[in-house]
Amino acid sequence: MNDLLQSPTRRQLLSMIGKTAGATAMYQAMTTLGFASESSFKEEMNLKGAPAGASIVILGAGLGGLTAAYELRKAGYKVTVLEYQNRGGGRSWTLNSGDKYTELGGAEVTCDFEKGNYFNGGPWRLPIHHYAVFHYCKKFGVALQPFIQNNDRAYLHRTNHFNGAPQRLGEVQNDIRGYVSELLSKAVNKGSLDSTVNKEDKEKLLEGLKGWGVLDTNYRYVKSHETGKHRGYSVYPGGGLMPDAKPSTPIPMNKLLDSGMWSDIYSNYTVHVHQPTMFQPVGGMGKIGDAFTRECREMIIFNAKVTNINQDETGVTVDYVDSNSPDGAAKTV
Ligand SMILES: Cc1cc2nc3c(=O)[nH]c(=O)nc-3n(C[C@H](O)[C@H](O)[C@H](O)COP(=O)(O)OP(=O)(O)OC[C@H]3O[C@@H](n4cnc5c(N)ncnc54)[C@H](O)[C@@H]3O)c2cc1C
Repeated sequence: MNDLLQSPTRRQLLSMIGKTAGATAMYQAMTTLGFASESSFKEEMNLKGAPAGASIVILGAGLGGLTAAYELRKAGYKVTVLEYQNRGGGRSWTLNSGDKYTELGGAEVTCDFEKGNYFNGGPWRLPIHHYAVFHYCKKFGVALQPFIQNNDRAYLHRTNHFNGAPQRLGEVQNDIRGYVSELLSKAVNKGSLDSTVNKEDKEKLLEGLKGWGVLDTNYRYVKSHETGKHRGYSVYPGGGLMPDAKPSTPIPMNKLLDSGMWSDIYSNYTVHVHQPTMFQPVGGMGKIGDAFTRECREMIIFNAKVTNINQDETGVTVDYVDSNSPDGAAKTV
């Protein structure tokens, strides 16, 4: 533990962030540190020059290991992949309805959700710049579909606010934008920003805020047919003998500010790596793991837990425990 506090490795640091603040924070940290940055992939790899008879052992049949295996085999190497689990894909993995899974601590998980539903145990979204992943999905016939990152009709819950009643994301977003526009317009009109914004820009800003925040002619964000068009109606517009449309009532500003709902919604979902449009494999992220596993099947030894890596001037050997064999024999490649 002392060592860890003194000089954590990158992996340990990210793992600590993940354990204390959750996977989202960890991914955010990866992005900030540049480990989740835009892919530099441009075109299919064309590795060449494997020395005759050279062999390579790859540890782990995650997408990293299997990509390396796939490309190195093409380059002429004899490749062996040692994988601890009984399946490939690593974290790129999907649990389907009816699946059972034993957690590391021994807990049995049964996926008793409805048929057709699934749960991605690890990654779930393909940001638009994951060019290499898109390349392999196309090559291996993995069907992709758009990933819905934001759902304005989704509900936000805060037990201690709004008497526990859920609020629609779209309504919260529209209201906070409206109130911020109103407050900023007030500041501009009172001259509070005169030292930072010149006369011409003030006019442009006010005009923009009016449209952006759906403000009335007095720069106020108040219930109107215009706000109804954006945040919805209590009585929706109809035709013929149907009653007149009634716009819904914005959440009062003090309640919205107090709830904190408005500030949290922007923290993760608007970062550039999550900008729409993102994609996902039809049927879950495990489809990518399955496709790589199919393409690399002959190279993989499953249920092989690597225990030691030895290197000397004659080469590298890897020890693993083979749980395929009845006595869990130790083997070396
Ligand atoms: C909760 C979560 C959400 C994420 N969300 C996203 C996302 O939305 N989009 C995205 O692009 N990325 C996301 N990521 C990151 C993404 O999952 C990883 O970058 C990617 O899966 C890493 O692939 P890999 O092959 O390097 O490692 P892994 O997939 O971890 O593969 C490592 C493999 O090595 C095997 N192994 C480990 N130890 C041994 C051993 N001793 N002997 C033999 N085999 C061993 C493991 O069983 C595993 O199969 C997320 C990650 C997590 C955890």
